[in-house]
Amino acid sequence: MRIAVDVHGTSYDIDALQAAHDANSTIPDLFCADPVCRKAVRFVPRHQQNRKGRIEPVDVPAYIGLTSGSEHVNDCRYNTAKRIAVIVDKSDRDFVSELEAGKRELRLLVLHNGLSGKPLSSNPPIPTGATPGFGPGKGTRQYVSSGQKLDSYLRTTADLLELRSLCDSDAALAAQLTLRFGPKRIAWNDFFFNRDRYDEAWELLKKAGGNAHPIALTGEVKSHYSPPAGAKYKSTFLNCRPLYRKTDTPNRVESFEVSVMHADAAWLSSFPVGTSIILFGLSEYKEIVENSAKDANDPSRTVTYAVHKLSLRPKFKQQIVTVL
Ligand SMILES: [Zn+2]
Repeated sequence: MRIAVDVHGTSYDIDALQAAHDANSTIPDLFCADPVCRKAVRFVPRHQQNRKGRIEPVDVPAYIGLTSGSEHVNDCRYNTAKRIAVIVDKSDRDFVSELEAGKRELRLLVLHNGLSGKPLSSNPPIPTGATPGFGPGKGTRQYVSSGQKLDSYLRTTADLLELRSLCDSDAALAAQLTLRFGPKRIAWNDFFFNRDRYDEAWELLKKAGGNAHPIALTGEVKSHYSPPAGAKYKSTFLNCRPLYRKTDTPNRVESFEVSVMHADAAWLSSFPVGTSIILFGLSEYKEIVENSAKDANDPSRTVTYAVHKLSLRPKFKQQIVTVL
């Protein structure tokens, strides 16, 4: 949750709460922002956390979560369990299948194949009247072209990711939805990456060497760049705010930069600077490139940036979602 209200219904966004925290101001009792709910929530300020396998603590962004024992009402927009059920009920059974009551599986391979232009399914079209599970006489399920199917997969993915971005962690989604990529089970934290974990996304793609499952990255739009007239390349870039990581070497910084490339500059500029977005699909990584630049605050110092690039060339416009 990015927003909460006080007892009078005045809303506070996460930045205002962080500013109040930093200024040692009193933070009011907070409640869920959805008027149908108004259950007790709490603000957790930005902090650092030691994580396994990391040299230095990572920054955990501020968030608003439920207080212990508090739960959103059924119709609340922040009620994750309910919203997952609604999304999943509308989804294509070839993409989200039911394992057991309350447990579903999301098949990233069919999304991957759709995005890479491979056939979506090795199964031939199901002849009318022979659909298993539909019973004799009721088997009228039509074969849907992969275009419509892929549209449905993209919509389900976008809806789930939007919901994930409202949550403080993977837990709520992971409890109901297992991710599968062919025979492999994929952990939610290997699928969904906030900016503080761009480095882990880059490592994952490098390790997979071109065979990675689709991933999702959240970002804040930092800039747009269009090629000058006459340039050989045609793509416009939408760049997200990078992650910077200190190193043990003085004046050496690692940066992790996420960009979207697309020929439609007008479309990319419809995501203005400062917009929070989620991009998903078959992202690519580039090997590290080193750039040196004068320190903006101290021109006598030269800083070397080890640039790690991550990029997405969306095939479909549904692959970028604005987060409200
Ligand atoms: Zn609520």
